[in-house]
Order: sequence, then C-alpha cells, then structure tokens
Amino acid sequence: MSVRQINSVNPATEQVLARFDPHSPAQIETALERATAAAGQWRSTPVDVRAKHLERAAALLRADRNRLATLITEEMGKPIAEAEAEVEKCAWCCDYYASEGPALLAGQPVATAATRSHIAYDPLGLVLAVMPWNFPLWQVFRFAPPALLAGNGAVLKHASNVPRCALAIADIWDRAGCPPGLFTTLLVGPGAVPDLLADDRIHALTLTGSTEVGAAVAAMAAQHLKPQVLELGGSDPFIVLADADVPAAAAAAVTARMLNTGQSCISAKRFIVEDAVADEFTEAFAAGVAALTVGDPLDRGTRVGPLARAGIRADLIDQVARSVAAGARVVTGATVPDGPGFYFQPAVLDQVTPAMAVAAEETFGPVAAVLRAKDPAEAVDLANATEFGLGAALWTTDLDRADHIVPHIDAGAVFINGIVASDPRLPFGGVKRSGYGRELGAFGLRQFTNVKSVWVG
Ligand code: NAP
Repeated sequence: MSVRQINSVNPATEQVLARFDPHSPAQIETALERATAAAGQWRSTPVDVRAKHLERAAALLRADRNRLATLITEEMGKPIAEAEAEVEKCAWCCDYYASEGPALLAGQPVATAATRSHIAYDPLGLVLAVMPWNFPLWQVFRFAPPALLAGNGAVLKHASNVPRCALAIADIWDRAGCPPGLFTTLLVGPGAVPDLLADDRIHALTLTGSTEVGAAVAAMAAQHLKPQVLELGGSDPFIVLADADVPAAAAAAVTARMLNTGQSCISAKRFIVEDAVADEFTEAFAAGVAALTVGDPLDRGTRVGPLARAGIRADLIDQVARSVAAGARVVTGATVPDGPGFYFQPAVLDQVTPAMAVAAEETFGPVAAVLRAKDPAEAVDLANATEFGLGAALWTTDLDRADHIVPHIDAGAVFINGIVASDPRLPFGGVKRSGYGRELGAFGLRQFTNVKSVWVG
C-alpha cells in the first residue's frame, strides 16, 4: 500500500494547503468495522426515516455552501461561482431522492400464479466509491444519496488531490445524523483499492474516472464478483447542422467546452460542423472563447481557472502539439501564461480530423476541436468515430430530423439544442469505453440494490 502523503495543493498558487498521512491498515480495519455496523443498523431503518437524513444533508449543504465552495475552489481550482452551483446541485440531488426515492423503492406487485408476488429492492451492503477530483462534491453526491436511501453504506476513496473535500463530505453525512461511519472517507492512495475490493465487507464498486483506471479496477472487482458501475472518460460530440441557430450554438459551445475549465467528462470536446456554417460557427465560437476571463478562481469575474494538476496541463500541451504537427490550425489560445498556477489559455483548433490527438483522445481541459462535415450523415459518422460514448449535443431547427438522428448516435445521453448536463431526474452514464451502469433517476437508485423476487404460495 502507498505510504505517500496525500497533499491538498492550490492549483492557482501551487502552494500546499494541507498534508495528510494516508490511513494505516489498522485505521482502515477500524473504519470498515464501523461502516459495517452502521450499514447493518441503517438497512433496518425505514426508508422514510432514511429520506429525512437526506433532507438534513441537503439543508447542511445549503447552510455551508460558501465554506464548501471555497474548499472546492482552493483544492481543485474551479471558478467560485461554479463551485457554489456544485454545492447547490448536491443539495438538489438529496432533496430529489428524499421526495421521489421512497416510492421508487417500494415493492412492486406482479401478477403471477402465486397468491401474491412482488419485486423488492433490498440494499447490497457497503459500496466502495472510487472518485475523481473534477467535481469533488458532485461526483460523490451523484452516487451517495440514492445509494444511502436504498439502505447501503458507502466507503469513499476520493482522488488524492481533494482530501479536504473528501473529509467534508463524510462530515455532512455524520452531521445529518446517519449512524457514525455509514459514510466513511478513507484517505488512501490507489494501492489500497485491491485489498478493499477483496474484502468481504465491501459488496459493490462505483468508480468514476479515466477509462484506463476504470478497466483495471473493474477487472479486480470482477475477480471478486462485485457488482459495479463505471463512469469513465468521454469525448462528446457537439454537432451543428446547417439549419441550426448558429449564434446560439456558438454561444452554448463556449460554456459546453469551458465549464469547469474544460475538465468535465461531459464537456463537448469535438465540434462537428456542417461545411455550410463551419466558418460562421468557428469564428463566433473562437471569439467567445477568446473573450473568457482567465484568472484567479476565487475572483467572481473569472470564467476559466487553472487546471487542477500540473500533469493535466502537460498532457494538453502535448495533445495540441501533436495535432498541430498533423495539420490542425490554432484559431485562438493554447498558450501558457507566465507565473504560478497551472493556467492554460483556452483554445480552439480548426481543421481537425478524427485521427488527430485532440479528436482521438480525451482532452481534459480547455481545448476545443472543430471537425467539418459535408452533410448530416457524415456528421453522425464523425460523432461516432470515437471509442467513447457518454453524451452528445445536436443543434438543428428541424426537430423531426433530430428525432431520426438520435437513435444513430452512440451515447448515453443526447441533448438537442442544449448543453449536455446531469440532472438527478434523468439517468446518467455511458456506452462503449465510457463505462456501464447508470447513476441518477430511478435507474441510479436501483443500481445498488438486490432486486428481489418475492413469491407467496
Ligand atoms: P483517474 O486518474 O482515473 O482517477 C480516478 C480515481 O481513481 C481517483 O480516486 C484515483 O486515485 C483512482 N485511481 C487511479 N489509479 C488507480 C488504480 N490503479 N487503482 C485504483 N484506483 C486508482 O481520473 P481523474 O484524473 O481523477 O479524473 C479524470 C477522468 O475521469 C477523465 O477521464 C474523466 O472523463 C473521467 N470522469 C468521468 C465521469 C463520468 O461520469 N463518466 C465524471 C468525471 C470524470 P488517486 O487520485 O489517488 O490517483
């Protein structure tokens, strides 16, 4: 197991804010025992009482919004207004499941030859959550309220660069009155994950992260036959057809690519534009990107902050360089400003083809790739020319045509004339190498349940 310290580093200043020793094997053992006891107590707690705990968590999140948002921004660099919105969204998810969840978990009668028979949704036990840093609260709250409402406990191994967020999340569930340890944060490196997956007290895995890590961890979970949800990388297409409202599409494209400084799995990453409007779109899009204020994420005027880690910027620089060498044209940005912080000037690259790095690989930062298509059919082919399948946006004023195109797009979500976003009411997840299983909505709530058939003769 890794004994490396877990550091909280401000990516805007590169200063170390806090250092933590990773939990020792003895501390992990104590935490698992406590979490197991808490989950045992929790599964026999009535669902409407569990729902009250979610309501309390929502209230705590809202009351603590400013402190939590500052913590997020200091730890991973997102603009403060976006961090505040993230905290609000976590509260919304708790409220959604508190109000809608109990009915979705209620036994469903099914007519059979039995006197009566029904489907019950029982908890699985303790779910191990391996989570990324990019939405350090939301990624966890996308999974935790439904998993807990369903009667499970949670053990969080968060990304190593957001330890203070990880501790704050467990604190919220404790203060919401859940049995102590029902939601447990372990401060551990990746090296602790194999033993956790092998442990009989862990019953399931949810992992949000890169495709490479997801595949490796999923293989370990499969060895122990632990059910799993994988929310992995994405390279979402943003298709603009010739009949689209081009100014509206270009304005939305700026947000779709640059929100969270471009570090989102469902960021639009490949802008696939029909030839007839490609120049108009690219010019407006690049102007919007060039106008973004890049700077201190704690400053309310900032739209783009630093990248969360130095390595992310290095990867982006490399992807842009390889694409330019292969013939892409930088329309704006792609420079590295002087001074501290992992800053990168938001970029738009035109004349991109599917084999270039910025189209073939996931770009996890503020870099947009524009690909040109001769007609809608080629646009759909280009959209699907990726190993990923998370989200997709389609811009057209012809909604009948949109309806015909949607079934041909290989993605877990298609948004017409809008920006792909998660919503507690709608299932969220991917196909292909973006993962499997679903979070959110009724699907997310039942994902970590034992779907039990009950038959009475
Ligand atoms: P990452 O490097 O895959 O890390 C994700 C988590 O896995 C972290 O907690 C990390 O811990 C852990 N981890 C890394 N290597 C591991 C290993 N060998 N064994 C066990 N655990 C391991 O991803 P990231 O850089 O944090 O996040 C960016 C990626 O996540 C992008 O690809 C993005 O698209 C994807 N993502 C997907 C979604 C979605 O919903 N589909 C949402 C957000 C992000 P350490 O930090 O300690 O290394």
